[in-house]
Amino acid sequence: MSILYNKFEARIRLSAIRSNYRLLKTFGSRVIGVIKADAYGHGLFETAEALSKEGCDTFAIGSVEEGVALRQHLSNAGIGARILSLLGPIDPEDYAPLWQHDIIPFIGSFRQLEAVAGQAARLGKALPISVKFDTGMARLGFVESDLPRLLERLREAPLVRPAMASSHLATADDPEAVGCVLEQAKRFETMVAALRQAGYDVEANLANTAGILAHQQLHHQSQRGGIALYGANPFAGTAWEHLGKGLQQAMEVRTKIVSVHPLKRGETISYGATYTASRDMKVAIVAAGYADAYSRGLSGQGAQMLIGGRRVQQVGRVCMQLCAADVTDAPDARPGDWAWLLGGTGPLAISADELASWWGTISYEVFCLLGMNRRVYI
Ligand SMILES: *Cc1c(COP(=O)(O)O)cnc(C)c1O
Repeated sequence: MSILYNKFEARIRLSAIRSNYRLLKTFGSRVIGVIKADAYGHGLFETAEALSKEGCDTFAIGSVEEGVALRQHLSNAGIGARILSLLGPIDPEDYAPLWQHDIIPFIGSFRQLEAVAGQAARLGKALPISVKFDTGMARLGFVESDLPRLLERLREAPLVRPAMASSHLATADDPEAVGCVLEQAKRFETMVAALRQAGYDVEANLANTAGILAHQQLHHQSQRGGIALYGANPFAGTAWEHLGKGLQQAMEVRTKIVSVHPLKRGETISYGATYTASRDMKVAIVAAGYADAYSRGLSGQGAQMLIGGRRVQQVGRVCMQLCAADVTDAPDARPGDWAWLLGGTGPLAISADELASWWGTISYEVFCLLGMNRRVYI
């Protein structure tokens, strides 16, 4: 829920998300829709409903709380689906909702395993889990040397039912790092084989978007696709850029021009007077600033906007709710007109990767942050 009273519109094209899902499905096994963090800023409920219409029957969210919200929404909408919590339970109060709301948690530590085992025994009710393995990311999950104790603890807790096995790739978006990907894949196969040998018929999933697009051999029984659903290509700017062909960016962001005025040669603009006009020019003051998640880090980085169908450059410091753009070459720009910060119409539309490069970040963060503004579904 947005608490920003601004002129921003994060416009979300659900048809693009649906089309991207259809595209991902052509790459192999079942695609789990990764819609954590409010669907990367695109809206948890709207995105889940759109994906469900394309046959997506499994959603990966972050916290258990996010899973509860999704379950309640889907139930009200009459939609059944599996919900996986990628973070799994963190606090004691995160355990009961797993049973109440039918959420499959990633379980990646003995601490979590003991807690679900205890709760299952108290309730006398089974819980399907995904066993999370750490195969090289060194973030969350059981490592290979945990296997004997893990299998022993699982044997002792028959109500905890490993239904899935998962691990996450650290370098799949880097064509130069295939060696690391294959090493992770090998470790994953070993650990999945150990689970299966112990009698657990797990659905294995390892691939993220980059893995889905680039590595046929990582597909297993299911795959967790995130960023591609929203139309950004994890291989943008790499030798494998072509693998993301056909993805459609689902988010575009626009705001209003507040004022247009001249800036004479030699005059400076905005806080710190960091930008000096090198010629007589015209500037638009745009209702976008770091309070709207249009980062101050964009100041002076050559960031562009689309105004009146033309690319124009942001100049001077980005303020809290305002920033400036050089509109000398966009003579029709008027107060009240739209300025596009992301997307826009025609071949000059601004891609998430372009904006990310000016910002010094990645498309994921651009979507998550700008998506916190008021959203309009188009
Ligand atoms: C976010 C996430 C994904 C999706 O990654 P993309 O690169 O967006 O496809 C998959 N698995 C896990 C565990 C994640 O946290």
